[in-house]
Amino acid sequence: MHRRQRRSKLRLYGSNRIHYHARRCIIRGNVALSPSTLSRRENCATELHPGVPISREVALQLIRCADGDLPDLLAAARAAKERFKPGVVTYSRKVFIPLTNLCRDYCGYCTFRRDPGDPGAHTMTPDEVLQVARAGEKLGCTEALFSLGDKPELLFPEMRETLRHLGYKSTLHYLEAMCELVLRETSLLPHPNPGLLSAEWVARLAAVSPSMGLMLETTNSDLLAQGRSHDNAPDKVPAKRVRTIEEAGKQRVPFTTGLLIGIGESLQDRVDALLAIRDLHERYGHIQEVIVQNFRVKPTIPMANSPEPSQGEMLRTVAVARLLLPKVNIQAPPNLSAPYYEELIDAGINDWGGISPLTPDFINPEKPWPHIEQLRRRTEAKGSVLRQRLPVYPEFVSGVIAHPGLLSEKLRAATGDDGLARRAA
Ligand code: SF4
Repeated sequence: MHRRQRRSKLRLYGSNRIHYHARRCIIRGNVALSPSTLSRRENCATELHPGVPISREVALQLIRCADGDLPDLLAAARAAKERFKPGVVTYSRKVFIPLTNLCRDYCGYCTFRRDPGDPGAHTMTPDEVLQVARAGEKLGCTEALFSLGDKPELLFPEMRETLRHLGYKSTLHYLEAMCELVLRETSLLPHPNPGLLSAEWVARLAAVSPSMGLMLETTNSDLLAQGRSHDNAPDKVPAKRVRTIEEAGKQRVPFTTGLLIGIGESLQDRVDALLAIRDLHERYGHIQEVIVQNFRVKPTIPMANSPEPSQGEMLRTVAVARLLLPKVNIQAPPNLSAPYYEELIDAGINDWGGISPLTPDFINPEKPWPHIEQLRRRTEAKGSVLRQRLPVYPEFVSGVIAHPGLLSEKLRAATGDDGLARRAA
């Protein structure tokens, strides 16, 4: 390609830093690859075109790229981000509501779950839920993230008794009521993460929350085998999780999902999980964000001796996620990547996820969230503006508002002209 043509194609992406970097490289489509990379990938590089998601073959090669090629991969991912999500990185100002930490699953990496009687085992009361939500409201939060164990009442009679005492038949009935309570009594918008859901429960929770989530985590069912990370975790069967995400798609519910990397899966598994998400999004158009979350080791978990994914692995996975799903919102939690979270912007993220000024990350309590002002400074230093979003992304807001009722009214009141959180006057 003529040098002038190369430069004009680069102008599409708008960042001087990317221009400078990419001038050192040979450009094919929207991906800048060094001559050495291209010589090994001549066949796949010809498939790369601006705005066109990469193929599985290309993704498999890029996720395994050598350290020397990583800067080129990051430049390509950042260029795709700037093309489709220019100039802004978002976050959701939230409170974390751990409705119950009882769970019938025993994931090998989990510090959140408890059995009844364990120290810290707790199911929140409605008063506790409302107290946290109201405190968050005072601090400008717009999201109530409900995280909870999956169907604990199926395993524990103690949870059945707790629910009976509270007046509910199941954890999902209780969750539905608490989402409705927060929606009615505060300005916060609920975003539930309750695990596997039937079609009926997707519909019921969608009536009281503008979006919901379920991490696919992986498509590798070998991790359910004895001694692996999903041993004794019946809700982590990948096909069942795909079914829940698909059901949300059929009902047009804005949905958050993603990968958990470093739990025993291979690099190929990561690509295949991203492709499974892409396939669902192509069929239903409802995937509002894809989270790439990295396993962090803790001394008390069954996986206490497992290695964490390296920084390079994390960056490659994020960058490949961006190139496989160039128009989808890509998120990586900053507290799990500190201190190198600026590099995640280089890898193509456009969202930091939920950041709470009030509650700790109950899933990773030893990893505090960065202060929002610090996150703003560090995001701006990388050339992007930090903006507060709602639990539902701007491109999905109108679809939720279209259904009249309390949810529509509350969402309309919270949304600014650009679909992000309405700015304080
Ligand atoms: S990760 Fe979720 S499903 Fe697994 S044990 Fe923890 S709370 Fe339960």
